[in-house]
Amino acid sequence: MSASTTRIARLGGKVAIVTASTDGIGYAIARRLAQEGAKVVVSSRKQNNVESAVTKLKSEGLDVTGLVCHVGNADHRQKLFDAAKQLGGLDILVSNAAVNPSVASVLDCEESHWDKIFEINVKASYLLAKEALPLLRQRPYGRIIFVASIAAFQPFDVLGAYSVSKTTLLGLTKAAAAQLALENITVNALAPGIIKTRFSGALHENESSRDEALSRIPMNRLGLPDDISGAAAFLASEDSSYMTGETLIISGGMPSRL
Ligand code: NAP
Repeated sequence: MSASTTRIARLGGKVAIVTASTDGIGYAIARRLAQEGAKVVVSSRKQNNVESAVTKLKSEGLDVTGLVCHVGNADHRQKLFDAAKQLGGLDILVSNAAVNPSVASVLDCEESHWDKIFEINVKASYLLAKEALPLLRQRPYGRIIFVASIAAFQPFDVLGAYSVSKTTLLGLTKAAAAQLALENITVNALAPGIIKTRFSGALHENESSRDEALSRIPMNRLGLPDDISGAAAFLASEDSSYMTGETLIISGGMPSRL
């Protein structure tokens, strides 16, 4: 589909940064924001992944640029913002990168794994938001979108520390939203359920883990990255302008809250 011609250009004239956007959910979000008219800065840790994502997106006629950014690296983050400046400024930040080095219940998590999880999933998200502010403040409206998880609401047994890191992002969303509420900068989060990507491979790669995952999803199918991207575009657009501090849960009906 040539989406740039079939979708309304809700994001025309906007510039977006999407971290961890060469694969999976981040790639789908970057693609959708670009399809809706944004210029998008695509990034991840590996140069070859950046090159192949940018080539694919450009072949669809989308306006993207790409560079290496490990979100835990301050110089890399600065280069992201420099790339956005070259495109004219920054309107939309999607903080999507996360790691999970630990498959363990929360109190069995090794301290080094805990530190890594919180460094990337939480601290880098907070730093990206903080560092984006000077640019967002120069624009008519700003959008900060954190990618959390259904596990933020209902911790997964063997993803203990990861789940807590995602719960922390919900707190960051609320606190930053309150701080920025008078500045026309909204802060919201997305909470995907189990989405078929490399990251979640352990939950669906073999038949028994897939059956177990499906038994927890009322819609009886795994999510796809594009199940998340439309919600991201909504949060990035003016359509969500009276919404801040909230989390959209996109989980095929997995239980979260009332
Ligand atoms: P994915 O398909 O495995 O993609 C991961 C992307 O992140 C790749 O582009 C990877 O590229 C990049 N990346 C990894 N570490 C990075 C870092 N430190 N800095 C910058 N880029 C990095 O993962 P995904 O499933 O789409 O996950 C994306 C987000 O969705 C995460 O926040 C995850 O917690 C959340 N989420 C996923 C699910 C799910 O079921 N998949 C559910 C709920 C929430 P490089 O290797 O080149 O860096």
